[in-house]
Amino acid sequence: MINYTERIALLMQDIVERTPRLSFIDLKEVLVFARFGRTEAEGAFATCHCMTIPESEPGYYYWRDRATGELTRRSEWFITKSPEVRVGLTRVKYLISFVLPRFCDQSLERSRKSALYPGAAPWLAKLDTIVHELYHIDPDESGIRRVARADGTNSPRSHGPMFYEDVAEMVTRYLASNPSPALYDFLKHDFDTLNAKEGGVVSTTFSNFPSFPQRYMQAVDMPMPDAAVKVERLKPLTQPVRYTEDDLHIRQFTDSSTRRLTRKGRYCAA
Ligand SMILES: [Zn+2]
Repeated sequence: MINYTERIALLMQDIVERTPRLSFIDLKEVLVFARFGRTEAEGAFATCHCMTIPESEPGYYYWRDRATGELTRRSEWFITKSPEVRVGLTRVKYLISFVLPRFCDQSLERSRKSALYPGAAPWLAKLDTIVHELYHIDPDESGIRRVARADGTNSPRSHGPMFYEDVAEMVTRYLASNPSPALYDFLKHDFDTLNAKEGGVVSTTFSNFPSFPQRYMQAVDMPMPDAAVKVERLKPLTQPVRYTEDDLHIRQFTDSSTRRLTRKGRYCAA
């Protein structure tokens, strides 16, 4: 069976070594994992999740009466925090998730990206997505790369007009640097072909699959500004706030489901 996320992590290592604009990335601090998503369904192919965004200022939710506009309820005060993910002694700063089997079936033919790769092989859409997610990693370590507007201020959107062009340029240069085809050949196959050829597709997932480490709300004890209004408690946490390598599972993905495999050997970080 092919370990898809491990293969992506190995390919990423070669990409950052050969791409000056990505060479600041320490892949020991980046963890690649898989989520499930059908090919026919709408949705992302991959996502870059930053685990180092600082906790938020305290805040609360409130509800008003529609007719009178009067405050009717508040939540208790809370802050939002990122969970801690550690592999061995290393704190993971970014998670990059790939949605399987959807990612494997991505093709330039059905994509807006095709204009950036005239005449290129359809599977290049997948290499483009891998470089795209790496490019979201911020060299200033402030979270997700900020995108400068033409006037030099920061845009709240994380994809500026040049983002896609920059990615295409990095992909093209990477391939022109003659990397070993053994590193990227697996991207040439769609999910069914790869599954048949390799006898199965497995990937790293988290123990709380289909969930994964995500921002959470933690209640903080602070006085309520208006004591007369009813205060709603936050829902108790249902997901872990700390993850280690023991929370990494190997799951087999099919076109319609996943199942956990018993782990053999230790998790190998990128
Ligand atoms: Zn993006």
